[in-house]
Amino acid sequence: MFPPPVPSRRELPAKVVLATGNAGKQRELAALLAPLGMQVILQTTLGISSADETGDTFEANALLKARHAARQARLPALADDSGLEVDALGGRPGVWSARYAGVDATDAANNAKLLAELSGVPADRRTARYRCVIAFVRDADDPQPLVARGAWEGRIGESPQGTGGFGYDPLFWPQDASMTAAQMEPAAKNAVSHRGLALAELLRKLA
Ligand code: IMP
Repeated sequence: MFPPPVPSRRELPAKVVLATGNAGKQRELAALLAPLGMQVILQTTLGISSADETGDTFEANALLKARHAARQARLPALADDSGLEVDALGGRPGVWSARYAGVDATDAANNAKLLAELSGVPADRRTARYRCVIAFVRDADDPQPLVARGAWEGRIGESPQGTGGFGYDPLFWPQDASMTAAQMEPAAKNAVSHRGLALAELLRKLA
């Protein structure tokens, strides 16, 4: 259901630190969280560096990022770990999506590598999905973190189309859509994306 039921003020913290340095994610998560009336503080504005993503699952990385930000900021924290799973590549790049073409790779370099690896793969075998796991912790050692998941099915195109969104969006054709994720309006993407779905599930759990 979108928009999701909004938890009452009692369940929501007054302030939450958002554990991401990725500008695209910041934009999307800030828009998704705006209706909740919480003060959302970006970890970058507090001078908090990114946690090392040492986990090999989205869940592990989302939790370690949220705990790292909560510890440094001494505030409740929200983190997302997300990525693209391509069936013809056995689920790669997966948790390594941001680093697919190397540490600190640009979106353009990651997209070029993806196209190269899928060269010659026909349209019906270019199925893929974005996955997102969002973790919320009340403090760094919260023994009962809330964890929510979302997935968005689609296909990988033959060439980049569109300039919106971020990451692999110019190559990602959502199922049943006539445009790439990079050609969608931001609000339309948030309403159906892996990130929007994960946040909706998190809010249901909070409520
Ligand atoms: P993370 O910071 O390790 O979670 O990296 C997530 C990476 O997955 C991003 O840098 C993108 O490459 C990719 N990704 C996740 N969500 C999206 C999205 O909504 N659009 C495009 N790429 C995404």
